[in-house]
Amino acid sequence: MGKGTIVNALVQRDPGLWLSRSWTTRRQRPGEPDDAYVFTTPDRFEAKIASGGFLEWTEFLGNYYGTPVPDPTGNADGRDVVLEIEVDGAQQVKRQFPEAVLIFVLPPSRAEQERRLRERGDPGDKVLARLKKAELEEPIGRSLADHLVINDDLEQTIDEMMTIISAERAR
Ligand code: 5GP
Repeated sequence: MGKGTIVNALVQRDPGLWLSRSWTTRRQRPGEPDDAYVFTTPDRFEAKIASGGFLEWTEFLGNYYGTPVPDPTGNADGRDVVLEIEVDGAQQVKRQFPEAVLIFVLPPSRAEQERRLRERGDPGDKVLARLKKAELEEPIGRSLADHLVINDDLEQTIDEMMTIISAERAR
């Protein structure tokens, strides 16, 4: 029940949301859906950076991740765009779009996060690197975020996020 699961559930529940698909140079995990990302090579990713094709991009634990500039002919089609990204990217988006709403999703504890990463089949060294990275990201995420959600129970997390989205739309 990672962040991918949460945002997929959100866009299923609310037809007014559109989920942006990121590009990454990370290898696809066993069992990970083909459309989780546009899986690509560093060369192609760098070419897209050079042509101004990303709204934001970053390097995360040795791989590139980026949000393509949304298609102007509009696959988002007036819907609210959902980005599932880490804190550096969120910072870049907030600078360009101050009206963006940042929801920082935290695991209930590092021990639980570690359990989830191992359950997903991440190798041991990758698990440790991700936990360390999460420690570094947390204070940045907390200070940047408009809202915090603790991802304890998946259904409850989705409900909380829907409540936040409704409240933000009403402003
Ligand atoms: P994962 O390898 O677990 O799928 O993703 C690693 C991290 O990269 C996660 O924190 C995820 O939210 C973030 N991420 C995924 N796509 C993007 C993106 O397009 N831009 C940025 N900045 N981060 C992303």
